[in-house]
Amino acid sequence: MSSPTTIADGKVVSIHYTLTLDDGSEVDSSRDREPLNYLHGSQNIVPGLEKELTGKELGDKVEVVVTPEEGYGPRYADAQQHIAKKDLPPDMEIQPGMQLGAEGPDGVPMVLHVVGVDDDGITVDLNHPLAGQNLHFSVDVIAIRDATEEEQEHGHPH
Ligand code: ZN
Repeated sequence: MSSPTTIADGKVVSIHYTLTLDDGSEVDSSRDREPLNYLHGSQNIVPGLEKELTGKELGDKVEVVVTPEEGYGPRYADAQQHIAKKDLPPDMEIQPGMQLGAEGPDGVPMVLHVVGVDDDGITVDLNHPLAGQNLHFSVDVIAIRDATEEEQEHGHPH
C-alpha cells in the first residue's frame, strides 16, 4: 500500500503548473486559475510529466523537462492540409486555434488543429501545436486523494 500522500496510479492529483518552452516563453499556466486535477496512471497528462510525478509527495515542487517523444510527439513536415469550404459542416464558425475531430483513412480518430482560415476554406495541421518542443514544467503538488470507483472507471477525475 502506498502512502495516501504519495502520487501513484489511482490517485486524483491536483497540481499547479507553469509550462514554458526552451526559449523561456510561457505557453500555459494554471496559477491564475483553478489547479489542474487529473487521474494518475490514466494518461490525462503527457507521459513524461506523469512518469516524473510518480512517487512524488504532497507539497513537492517538481521541475521537469519533457522531450517531444514523451510530450506531444515529433513535428511532422507536410502535415498541413487545406480543406475547402464545401467540405466543412455548413453552420460551423471555425477560427484559428480550434481543434476539430476527424476520422483518418482507417477510421482512426484524429485531431486537426486549425492554423488558418481564408475565403475558400481552412488550413489544418495534424501536428499538435506543441509537437517537437521540449516542455519545461514547473509543478506544485497541492492535493492527492484516492479516486472513486466511478472516476477509475471513467479514467478521469470528477
Ligand atoms: Zn466521468
